[in-house]
Amino acid sequence: MATNEELFARAQRVIPGGVNSPVRAFRAVGGTPRFIQRGQGAYIWDAEGQKYVDYIGSWGPMILGHGHPAVVDAVQKALLDGFSFGAPTEREIELAEAILALVPGCEMVRLVSSGTEAGMSALRLARGATGRAKFIKFEGCYHGHADPLLVKAGSGLATFGFPTSAGVPEDVVKHTLVLPYNDIPALEAAFAEHGRELACVMIEPIAGNMNFVRASLPFMTLLRELCTQHGAMLVFDEVMSGFRVALGGAHSLFQQWIPGFKADVFVFGKVIGGGMPLAAFGASKEVMSQLAPLGPVYQAGTLSGNPVATACGLATLKEIAKPGFYEALGARTTALVRGLEAVAKDVGVPLVGDSLGGMFGFFFEQELPQNYATVMATDKERFNRFFHGMLQRGVYLAPALYEAGFVSAAHTQADIDHTLEAARESLLALK
Ligand code: PLP
Repeated sequence: MATNEELFARAQRVIPGGVNSPVRAFRAVGGTPRFIQRGQGAYIWDAEGQKYVDYIGSWGPMILGHGHPAVVDAVQKALLDGFSFGAPTEREIELAEAILALVPGCEMVRLVSSGTEAGMSALRLARGATGRAKFIKFEGCYHGHADPLLVKAGSGLATFGFPTSAGVPEDVVKHTLVLPYNDIPALEAAFAEHGRELACVMIEPIAGNMNFVRASLPFMTLLRELCTQHGAMLVFDEVMSGFRVALGGAHSLFQQWIPGFKADVFVFGKVIGGGMPLAAFGASKEVMSQLAPLGPVYQAGTLSGNPVATACGLATLKEIAKPGFYEALGARTTALVRGLEAVAKDVGVPLVGDSLGGMFGFFFEQELPQNYATVMATDKERFNRFFHGMLQRGVYLAPALYEAGFVSAAHTQADIDHTLEAARESLLALK
């Protein structure tokens, strides 16, 4: 049996950094990444047979936990009928219908294979539909790794300390305006100067790529107003928050919190694929009819709407739409976050957390940070040591202080209790 260390050494000989996505490499926290052999319910096992309570859940998709029987069954059946046809299938219609039924205001979707594709296609659509080039994104929000969006993004990039990626020409990002999150004066100033040239504003409404930061209600209200006044589209990137913070995603929450609120373009991923490569972007019928083959905005994909991925997504959406699902998930996640705060208080360590549905974050701080700069100013050293303490005690947290955590429907109160006990021991060991 190969150890994690042996596998990591072998991986680094054939895969850059030994990983196929940078944050998996544990660069932010140091140490050897765990090579995962299998998952079941709330748990994963590494190559050495060590069991962990999994709070990453593949970075969000595994909202039902690993190997949910209804999902496994749907995927097995779909596999036997064929992997990919490159022709339309009825299941794509069913998944599109299921997504639209849960997100009022989104009238049509196109299915793609990753959040990156969905985000870059949504941007192209907004630019094509408005005939404008400039757009705003916010520091700390990550919308995938397409060139125009890879500007001061958070997540893996922050680990390596680059303001942007090499290989992205300045010409490509000269239309990307990057503003601090939740900063009303900066937003007003940007619209005053560029409002009429803006195709869109893309935002993570509940930002999970700088741990867990909510867009404030005054900020979101103003953002909606300014977009409407200036003819810019408001693009909600719900790749992470969609079907995760609530059944209707962050959009349904902002609709409750801000009367009459509606985004113009939606970006989905993660949960809608249930762990398979699947994502989507959507908007009104009028805007979506700008897309090829109806309109002039081109977008395509060999594996888009893949029959196995759509089966996995459909089975997942069916489970999460059951009555009481989010109440139970939210209660469990709240118990975790409030429990972490209580344990830290007992031990005498500052810790504050927040959560919505099955998504959470926590900071070694007195108050919740409101933007990327304040998130990155939190106690990184303490976070890194805590992370390793938890890992040693069988709790698998995101290996970077700027990443959100995820609870699944498979996590039980016993898992939360085990986690809190591990947290107490880890925090005590830090003192
Ligand atoms: N948008 C958000 C908000 C994300 O969190 C991510 C990935 O974490 C993406 C887009 C990109 O999705 P993918 O990794 O599937 O390309």
